[in-house]
Amino acid sequence: MAGEPQDDCLFCKIVGGHVPATIVRETDTTVAFRDINPQAPTHVLVIPKAHYPDAAALAAGDPTLAADVLREAQSVADEDKLESYRIVFNTGPGAGQTVFHAHAHILGGRGMQWPPG
Ligand code: 5GP
Ligand code: ZN
Repeated sequence: MAGEPQDDCLFCKIVGGHVPATIVRETDTTVAFRDINPQAPTHVLVIPKAHYPDAAALAAGDPTLAADVLREAQSVADEDKLESYRIVFNTGPGAGQTVFHAHAHILGGRGMQWPPG
């Protein structure tokens, strides 16, 4: 069923406390934690606790939950006092998605250029 935890999903394991993570925020429906391989001084991932494989499935399956993720991403940026930042949802392997549990990257604290390729 849509949203049910998946045994083989890394981020479901983080939600369940079976894999450790540095959690910075948590709500009833979301968790925000530091990326294990940060690409910027602030690099936090916000995930829905429910399992959706990517942002498209999340937006289609539970738009209210998608809005929760976006609101939490904004809160991470506010807490770190980021003036400029990116909120990124890599969607699909060709876009660089490697973990198939929907997540927003919040990246900030350094200058960024628009990717050329
Ligand atoms: P994607 O490439 O799917 O958009 O992003 C997945 C992100 O998850 C990557 O930035 C990667 O560094 C991060 N990641 C992968 N495994 C772990 C982990 O075990 N813990 C944490 N905190 N982040 C992880
Ligand atoms: Zn999952």
